Amino acid sequence: MIWYPYQQMKTMKEPFKIIDAQGVYLYTEERRMIDSVSSWWSVIHGYKHPALTEAIHAQAERFSHVMLGGLTHEPVQKLADKLEAWLPGDLDYCFFSDSGSVAVEVALKMALQFYVNRGEMKRTKVLSLTHAYHGDTFKAMEVGDDEDYHFILEAYGEKKNVIHIPTQIAALEEAFSAFHEELNCFIVEPLLQGAGGMRMYELSFLQRARELCDKYGVLLVFDEVATGFGRTGNRFVADLVLPDILVLGKALTGGYVGHAATIANHKVYDGFYGDDAQKALMHGPTFMGNALACSVALKSIALFEEGGYLSRIRRIEEITRRELEGLDHPQIRQVRIMGGCVCIEVINGAVLQGFQQFAYERGVFSRPFLNYMYAMVPYVITEEELVKVLSVMKEWFIGR
Ligand SMILES: *Cc1c(COP(=O)(O)O)cnc(C)c1O
Repeated sequence: MIWYPYQQMKTMKEPFKIIDAQGVYLYTEERRMIDSVSSWWSVIHGYKHPALTEAIHAQAERFSHVMLGGLTHEPVQKLADKLEAWLPGDLDYCFFSDSGSVAVEVALKMALQFYVNRGEMKRTKVLSLTHAYHGDTFKAMEVGDDEDYHFILEAYGEKKNVIHIPTQIAALEEAFSAFHEELNCFIVEPLLQGAGGMRMYELSFLQRARELCDKYGVLLVFDEVATGFGRTGNRFVADLVLPDILVLGKALTGGYVGHAATIANHKVYDGFYGDDAQKALMHGPTFMGNALACSVALKSIALFEEGGYLSRIRRIEEITRRELEGLDHPQIRQVRIMGGCVCIEVINGAVLQGFQQFAYERGVFSRPFLNYMYAMVPYVITEEELVKVLSVMKEWFIGR
């Protein structure tokens, strides 16, 4: 039987069984519903996009996968070339892996080994944010700050190698002045912290972080697994402030196949480059650079460019602001909107009990968590469909 994610299996509500999917719609036997979650924020072009299906199909006719150990192939070379050209600055060196969590592990390993390779053995600590989420593998959990994972902390005593700070410049400056000699990197979800509660913060925080990282020689890592490919209204937040290492996942393949990338700049790459075999990066996921994933990622990026996605996302933001303008309710703590993300934070999460079923009956799939009712819609959504998603969210509060 299936062991489902993040669920107490004994009390879990039966999941909706999907039998087909097309555009922004998921189909059950009973009805169709707009996927307001984009399958965990990844399906930016919608389901069953003919060009994406064709990219996978065409590659499957050649080969679906060969390993990157001692072998290489055109789809992975083309994707690396594309990312090198497309990403800002000298973020040119792409290490592929099969999921966002693994790509975060790779980034953290890279940052640590970068200093070990230089003989700086004291830089064992990572600076990260409170409410951070970087994935479910062990080191990713450790740099994360998800209460569900605090048992790790308890089991191991304390987190000796991670320091968490809020998104305030004073806290940032304090942490750097206290710990700069021990830090190898500062990892953040830039501008928008997703799974930690759709928390949004100022660009000036990241600009200051960049300055301090430069001053003290600490690597800046952007985990754009969630924010990348337009979600914040920017193509990448890395277009605004340049990190040393960038992590991409989720929407990289348009949500068609699990894949991720850890992309280093020249300085980081150079820290591993040389004649010493000991200085090589020791990592190699079995399915890294999977040919189906790379082919569909290339096509997904092409659609993103051809389709004028940044203006589409601006439109989504405008409509969202217009529709939620003046939304007020004693249970609502805050409404937050950024690019293609909207979050209604309530004071008590119990008030969202039953919302998923309510939305389902009205033709919208939603998955609120804790105190957060949110939407991260596929970018191909029409105005009418988006208004429907937002109306269902608003309607829930009427008479409650
Ligand atoms: C989802 C997510 C991850 C983990 O990605 P997986 O593919 O689920 O392993 C890491 N970082 C952020 C910011 C995410 O949103």
